[in-house]
Amino acid sequence: MNLSIIIPLYNEEESITELTEWIVKVTEKMKISYEIIFVDDGSTDRSWKVIGELHQKYSSVVKGIRFRRNYGKSAALNVGFDKCKGDVVITMDADLQDSPDEIPVLYEDMIRKQYDLISGWKKKRYDPISKTIPTKLFNKVTRYMSGIHLHDFNCGLKAYRAEVIKNIEVYGEMHRYIPVLAKNAGFKHIGEREVQHQARKYGSTKFGLERFINGFLDLLTLTFMGKFSKKPMHFFGVWGVFFFFIGFCSSLYLGIDKLIILQRGGSAPLIANSPFFYFALLCMILGVQLFLAGFLGEMISRNNRDRNQYSLKETTGLDE
Ligand code: UDP
Ligand code: MG
Repeated sequence: MNLSIIIPLYNEEESITELTEWIVKVTEKMKISYEIIFVDDGSTDRSWKVIGELHQKYSSVVKGIRFRRNYGKSAALNVGFDKCKGDVVITMDADLQDSPDEIPVLYEDMIRKQYDLISGWKKKRYDPISKTIPTKLFNKVTRYMSGIHLHDFNCGLKAYRAEVIKNIEVYGEMHRYIPVLAKNAGFKHIGEREVQHQARKYGSTKFGLERFINGFLDLLTLTFMGKFSKKPMHFFGVWGVFFFFIGFCSSLYLGIDKLIILQRGGSAPLIANSPFFYFALLCMILGVQLFLAGFLGEMISRNNRDRNQYSLKETTGLDE
């Protein structure tokens, strides 16, 4: 199979027929084998029924998966990635905001150029201003933290090589950071292409403003996991030792200072009267805490089933 188109959806009954007809019209011209996989994320409207009708009509291309309840876009994408069979995989939103007319160019680019992933860029957006401005900030922070130069991380329209999506796991709300997940898994050829964007025609958006808070926390998790999940001690241990060392030296200084004064027959004030004492104490406690956190992290990752899971690019001379 040449191409899989994966479409996560949650209560989009009005859009999916129009979307499917449009996709079929565009892809039939491409003379390739393809499938459209709808992942119904626990819709409570007629979406699943519509998917059934579409399957009747286009039985060789339209496929559907239905969740028993709403798990979120990431879960829907993950299951779609698991089930799809295409060499190139394109994801798009179901709400007609992404244009199927982009499919042929994205596919061509994936075939001709050696990209692992091409992300859509909605240069001109048709969303309310309450969304476009925070999104700009979100993209800037993500660019800075991940080192990936994309303008639009969370565009629903993306194309992947099959190998990429089979090697990453999208969970929680990580669909916003698939390029970061891909990069963490070693897929570095990430491209970008300007795509058309439309205003939402039917229904309403499924994400509120909390997306930005959750999104930021997810980014922290991801950055941290990418850098330190296999070696937590290298982060916590270093800071732990650093703080403990400062604290220890400070208390040593306080103690010796007092001894010297006493030896000279002076009357030294209580060590606990000096503010410096509390600083020393704080540093030592902080150091031990950080060290312990690193140690616990190591214990956890030692027990982790995936600790020796690596994604192999290829082998030579080894029997399969
Ligand atoms: N979606 C989903 N599960 C959810 C929320 C959204 O599958 O829990 C789908 C939704 O139906 C749409 C896509 O994810 O196809 C993008 O959602 P939406 O258009 O609401 O997001 P926005 O365009 O506002 O970022
Ligand atoms: Mg949308």
